[in-house]
Amino acid sequence: MSAYVSDLMADVKAKNPGQVEFLQAVEEVVESLALVMERHPEYRKAKILERIIEPERVIMFRVPWMDDSGDVHVNRGFRIEMNSAIGPYKGGLRFHPTVNLGILKFLAFEQVFKNSLTTLPMGGGKGGCDFDPKGKSDNEVMRFCQAFMSELFRHIGPDTDVPAGDIGVGGREIGFMFGQYRKLRNEFTGVLTGKGLNWGGSLIRPEATGYGAVYFAAEMLGTRNDTLEGKTCLVSGSGNVAQYTVEKVNQLGGKCVTLSDSSGYIYDPEGIHADKLVYVMDLKNVRRGRIEEYAEKYSGVTYTPFDSSLDHNPLWNHKADCAFPSATQNEINAKDAQNLLDNGVYVVSEGANMPTTPDGVTLFLDAKILYGPGKAANAGGVAVSGLEMSQNSLRLSWTREEVDDRLHGIMKSIHKTCVDAADTYGTPGNYVNGANIGGFLKVADAMLDQGLV
Ligand code: NAP
Repeated sequence: MSAYVSDLMADVKAKNPGQVEFLQAVEEVVESLALVMERHPEYRKAKILERIIEPERVIMFRVPWMDDSGDVHVNRGFRIEMNSAIGPYKGGLRFHPTVNLGILKFLAFEQVFKNSLTTLPMGGGKGGCDFDPKGKSDNEVMRFCQAFMSELFRHIGPDTDVPAGDIGVGGREIGFMFGQYRKLRNEFTGVLTGKGLNWGGSLIRPEATGYGAVYFAAEMLGTRNDTLEGKTCLVSGSGNVAQYTVEKVNQLGGKCVTLSDSSGYIYDPEGIHADKLVYVMDLKNVRRGRIEEYAEKYSGVTYTPFDSSLDHNPLWNHKADCAFPSATQNEINAKDAQNLLDNGVYVVSEGANMPTTPDGVTLFLDAKILYGPGKAANAGGVAVSGLEMSQNSLRLSWTREEVDDRLHGIMKSIHKTCVDAADTYGTPGNYVNGANIGGFLKVADAMLDQGLV
């Protein structure tokens, strides 16, 4: 670690005690950017990196709501407006009991680089609440979403800050929040993305993150004249990203053999083919059940409950070629990474944000496998959110094919940016450096152009 990086990290750690995930995300980026800082003293002089690490604004608020029995609950809401140098703040809302300031700052920080990589004019932000939608009735979720938006509405807007979904926030939640925003502001604008198709949404937005992660994997394989045809894939999660990852892998001739939720995972050696995926979508999106039911429905499938006493996740310990972590942060530790390598996995495309711990990343990089970090590989979701914003501004709707073509083009362009940046800075094949440097340069130059603000 250079003196510049260690001094900077000491300062960031002192200023942000206890924000473990945020410090982890910053350290990875700062290490990649040490190479850039050596070549560009103008960035150091203007303290661009120090400024990018500090959010432009953090909003934290009380969210009081009432459950179906008349009991009052108080949750904590957040919006991190991280960087708006290249466009309005843009990034999802997460509703999960683990949400805290450090997790949302890590996500907002990653979002700045990711959004820059998409080539679209979007700054970075993220938000959410420690509310758990699991087990709540539709009416409870509606009352919560309305309470959340009753404060958030004054901070966001179609040219200021445009939130979207993330863990625990899908079409249902976006609908309730959009309705409340529209009522409070008395205006119909593209203030949220991930909207329903008949009220301003874009085709392919639900599919975009999963499809994009698979397109990114296909691009990485292309550098070795290889394809996804016939490949066995491990997928974690069973939500939005996981579902459409499976769909696209199937379309490209691969086979997915795992899915999970926070209770456990299923292993289906025959593959989760199209009609089984229809079942998963109904189970998760309509009935809101647990993945365990998949093993009861189909024969030859094993279900393994989550075991917190283990030092690894057995989902990552099956013979395969590719892995698509699509659940949450730090779900692949060093032991899991080693298990993946030992089982023959040589492609990892991260649908989730920061799913691999730093020592796991080091193992992937040392093994020189095709490792696509989240901020590049899962940028398809926010890219199509950007396309939803464009369609809202134009008051037009593009066809499914048109949006999918644009998504595919953007994923190819992100891949090329990563490859070129990694080459330029002397670390060919290192997509971590490629994504961090490629995403940074555009934002850094915009900040230099706009002066000290
Ligand atoms: P989702 O639809 O809510 O699904 C999340 C899935 O991951 C669920 O199966 C959930 O299981 C599981 N999960 C969540 N937290 C977990 C934990 N702590 N331990 C084990 N399993 C956990 O969310 P999503 O939109 O697919 O997001 C998944 C990942 O992709 C997240 O890292 C998110 O930040 C990232 N991402 C999403 C988008 C997007 O467009 N949605 C874009 C870029 C990146 P339970 O239901 O049991 O909790």
